[in-house]
Amino acid sequence: MSDASVVWFRRDLRVRDQPTFLAAAPSALGLFVLDPALLGPSGAARSTFLFRALRSLDESLGGRLLVVEGDPAEVVPRIAEAVGAGAVHVAADYGPYGTRRDEAVAKALADAGRELVRTGSPYAVAPGRIRKGDGDPYRVFTPFRRAWAEHGWRGPADTDASTVEWIDPADLDGVAIPDDEPVDAELPEATEDAALARWRAFLDDDVNDYSAARDRPDKPGTSRMSVYLKYGLVHPRTLLADLARRRSESAETYRTEIAWREFYADVLHQRPDSARENYDRSFDALPTASGAAARRAFEQWCDGRTGFPIVDAGMRQLREEAWMHNRVRMIVASFLVKDLHLPWWWGARHFMRLLVDGDLASNQHGWQWTAGSGTDASPYFRVFNPITQGEKFDPDGAYVRRYVPELRDVAGKAAHQPWTLPDGVPDGYPEPMVDHKAERLEALARFDLVKAAR
Ligand code: FAD
Repeated sequence: MSDASVVWFRRDLRVRDQPTFLAAAPSALGLFVLDPALLGPSGAARSTFLFRALRSLDESLGGRLLVVEGDPAEVVPRIAEAVGAGAVHVAADYGPYGTRRDEAVAKALADAGRELVRTGSPYAVAPGRIRKGDGDPYRVFTPFRRAWAEHGWRGPADTDASTVEWIDPADLDGVAIPDDEPVDAELPEATEDAALARWRAFLDDDVNDYSAARDRPDKPGTSRMSVYLKYGLVHPRTLLADLARRRSESAETYRTEIAWREFYADVLHQRPDSARENYDRSFDALPTASGAAARRAFEQWCDGRTGFPIVDAGMRQLREEAWMHNRVRMIVASFLVKDLHLPWWWGARHFMRLLVDGDLASNQHGWQWTAGSGTDASPYFRVFNPITQGEKFDPDGAYVRRYVPELRDVAGKAAHQPWTLPDGVPDGYPEPMVDHKAERLEALARFDLVKAAR
């Protein structure tokens, strides 16, 4: 075997702050595997963002990124053999599929006398590290967050593309990075430079107001870093290092949001079944709607035609931008579960199809939090009122008017209750599909069955 190794990129499509490079230097082949098992369910927005990010990474490596297609357990050992590499370097993956895939790849490599070397992960603290005194994982966020902050993390790794001498993949059988898939949404620029520029602009202009502005969907008060974190165009370590230099309430709030991302990754790592099942199994007793009427209601929700303006604005923002503001994600999720009585995983699946930042851990647990079945969940009996939520967080109705053209001429917060307008609901906009007060009571009655089953 030669001194060469392989750097297999997955959710870390960057050259700065890249500890795998330090482990792989001096010379390595840069590899990305187009894995049909992941690309299939990924949705056009995420696939397109990924392909663009790969083009940018390839450029950073001087056009030396090898892209191949197939099952990693078969492809990765074959490429390692072709370059005579003793080791394949990766950032560890803790998701349910990634864990299984990496075990299979490590075994196939070991069978040929090679090693899968895991250095770092997409998180400041790798899932599984933060434990209670008795060794059990945390099930509640606040103590996890405290232990996470006390545990601490390394500073950013000092790397760039020149840390490694990249092997020319010309003789290897690569494929072209696929063309963009047709996607209506305008996506953020998929480059590492754009990720860092976005972060710096947020630090300069918005971070000080973050605590107050983060709940306002009508304002650009959040960082929009989620897609960059998802694909590792920036590592959370870099963000945390910058935040450490700012002592303000808002910097602390932002750190807490990063901690939520880390918490949910930890929870999913401990309980891979929670990607599909209720984390709190007593919620299996909750009766949910099914059949043709339920499917029709679901379609109305997906199309943003529920007749509740804040819900419809959110669902249309999702289609137009492949992203939705966090406050509105909670409102539309609550509406699906507690007003329409549909299973949370219907909504979670729709989100995963459309979101450019769709991330299994944050998405499934964001949904379970709202549904009441997750860790640390918002209590089931707290049913979001889509009207008062709208009036509170979009006080002038500007967010609604931006995404719901039928309501563009409705001034101020009246946009949240168009059925109260003197001339009735404007043409083309639906009447409310349910009576929120009645459905809230229905949700509480259903919840009693969960309590009774405990
Ligand atoms: P900011 O407010 O600027 O937050 C900074 C970063 O902190 C985010 O980029 C994200 O990485 C992290 N973060 C913030 N809030 C949360 C949270 N509640 N849970 C986990 N991490 C958080 N986030 C995703 O990245 N992918 C998803 O698929 C996803 N699905 C969600 C589904 C539901 C039902 C809910 C309620 C939340 C979901 N979130 C998801 C969390 C959150 O809505 C997004 O991270 C956030 O809106 C992204 O925008 P931002 O980067 O501007 O956020």
